[in-house]
Amino acid sequence: MKAASSENVDLRAAGPPRRDWKRYTPTAIATGLAVVIAATLLQLPFDGLLAAVFDGAERLSVLRARDLPMAVVSYDDASGRRFGDPERIPVAALVATVEAIVREGPEAVLVLGPIDDRAYRPEELETLAAALTRHRNVYVGFTDDGALGRSVPGMASMAGRYLPAIVSKDTYSYGADSVTRRVFLAIEGFPTAYGAIACGGLESLSRWNRCLEENRAESRGASWQTFIDWRDVRASLARFPLVDVVDGAFPAQSFAGRYVLVGRSLSVPRDRDFVLTPLAKSRPTTSVLEAAAQGLGTLVLRQGVGTSPNYVIWFLTVVFAIVTTNVALKATPQRATLLAVLAFVLLVLLSSVSLLLFRRWVDVVHPAMAIVVGYYFVLPYRLFDEYQKRWHYQEKSEFMAELEELKSNFLSLISHDLKTPIARIQGAAERLIAEKAPPERVEKTLRSVVRTTEELTEYIEAILDLARVESGALPIHKASKDLNKTVEAVLDEKAPMAHEKGIAIDTDLEPLFAARYDEKLIRRVVANLVENAIKYSPPDTKIRIATREEGDVLRLAVTDEGRGIAPDEQERVFEKFYRSRTANTESVRGAGLGLYLVRYFVELHGGTVTLESNVGTGSTFTVSLPT
Ligand code: ADP
Repeated sequence: MKAASSENVDLRAAGPPRRDWKRYTPTAIATGLAVVIAATLLQLPFDGLLAAVFDGAERLSVLRARDLPMAVVSYDDASGRRFGDPERIPVAALVATVEAIVREGPEAVLVLGPIDDRAYRPEELETLAAALTRHRNVYVGFTDDGALGRSVPGMASMAGRYLPAIVSKDTYSYGADSVTRRVFLAIEGFPTAYGAIACGGLESLSRWNRCLEENRAESRGASWQTFIDWRDVRASLARFPLVDVVDGAFPAQSFAGRYVLVGRSLSVPRDRDFVLTPLAKSRPTTSVLEAAAQGLGTLVLRQGVGTSPNYVIWFLTVVFAIVTTNVALKATPQRATLLAVLAFVLLVLLSSVSLLLFRRWVDVVHPAMAIVVGYYFVLPYRLFDEYQKRWHYQEKSEFMAELEELKSNFLSLISHDLKTPIARIQGAAERLIAEKAPPERVEKTLRSVVRTTEELTEYIEAILDLARVESGALPIHKASKDLNKTVEAVLDEKAPMAHEKGIAIDTDLEPLFAARYDEKLIRRVVANLVENAIKYSPPDTKIRIATREEGDVLRLAVTDEGRGIAPDEQERVFEKFYRSRTANTESVRGAGLGLYLVRYFVELHGGTVTLESNVGTGSTFTVSLPT
């Protein structure tokens, strides 16, 4: 009995049998999910976010700026007023400026601007080209891509020193916000003025390639570009108004050994002359000239910043996704959040180290998105899992409480129901020994001893049946029988018990075909129902027992005029050890096992037991057995 019930407990408490591989299922799910997340994220560019991160790093000046060996000579508003031309720099003024600079021995001079046949007449361009070609380190760069790939009359004689100097704007890539972040080294296979001055042009391919590598330049579309190492423009650039240079009103040695840019920065045609930079993204406050100086300065100092190779980004994204999803799945929410934050910090550190040591900025956006998405994707699974676990524990604790109740019920029943009859037998035997009673008293006492022993046997039998039922070791032997015969046999047996209480038993047994059932078990079913009807009915009432055959089913109904069973108890009375807690029941002996076994035995035959009852008027238990 004990072994049987503890086996029962283990089975229910442990839930369905666990297989070993199941332990790895969450890890596998999390890892699979992580790979899908990473693969999806890597398909998305997140250019805007990338730009924001880069701009942030620029503003924080992660890189230490060095002084630029640059000077800027600008055709500003004052110069425009002086020469009476707010659009174009007059050729004579331009030539005079370049001559003044060259006299000081600069490293290189770059004249920037709309210097083409749309701004100047052909003869003006010829004069300009002739004057400038005299110096081998003077270049002319056009900032408007309208001149790209076009032979501009007059400038042809400058050949390799009339080059594109277009200032790159992120119109489609990165922030798509027209901010100048990069500098062109080459466009469509031709070095730009910046590339030519800083890297010596394409004449020596090995030097050019080394310069690209040193500047971490990357090929995007048909161009080579590198991120400009922005610094505080105002602090590090030497600036001169063009008019002062023409007048010779500048300190000596202003241009010696420097890279000098000459060009227009009039405030009137603002849109054309000024650009947005990572340091000033909302208003164009930096002149094209200064942006060009920054770009050229970056290249001259070999300070170009590149991005990390794709495989690094893939690796980081996948690793961060896998780690985050697994952590989010297993760690406590606090720890998972802390680890996610740590992962962010680690990413930022990684990218700063890479920027400082290798001048490559790691794309932190994809791995960071992997952390966020990984974390939030796992949450629903996590909640579901927690819910399942809680549900399991709740079920287990409910079951334990039920078991506890059963145990205490059982113990009190055992102590009461086993001890009482034994005490009665003992009392009777002691009386017989002590008294010299007349033979009829002796017989009466012995009869009561026999009845008590029968009750005791029945009780023990019920418990043994329960043990067999629980351990699944209950054999069933079906044979063809007549249910009416079984009923009559039981009634013969129970007649004295009914008679004692003055209870009349009416029978209404319809002739039945033989059915196949286990006679011993069904006999216990009938006996239990009849016995209950007698036990729970007041004296001098009636019990009716009827059998019917309806199609494939035999029905046996036991109806009494007893106290009835309340609706909320009608299901519970079939539970193991359940006894109704009414005064009536307490005065009646029983283990609370009868109806449990009745239902069990009937269901073993594929049948059902139903109960209809009204408190005060009586109950009808109906057994349906398939033939
Ligand atoms: P026992 O009779 O040993 O207590 P049962 O499982 O046979 O156990 O019955 C469970 C409970 O159902 C009884 O304690 C009693 O309260 C109630 N019961 C059973 N049969 C009847 C009936 N015919 N009329 C009223 N109550 C009944």
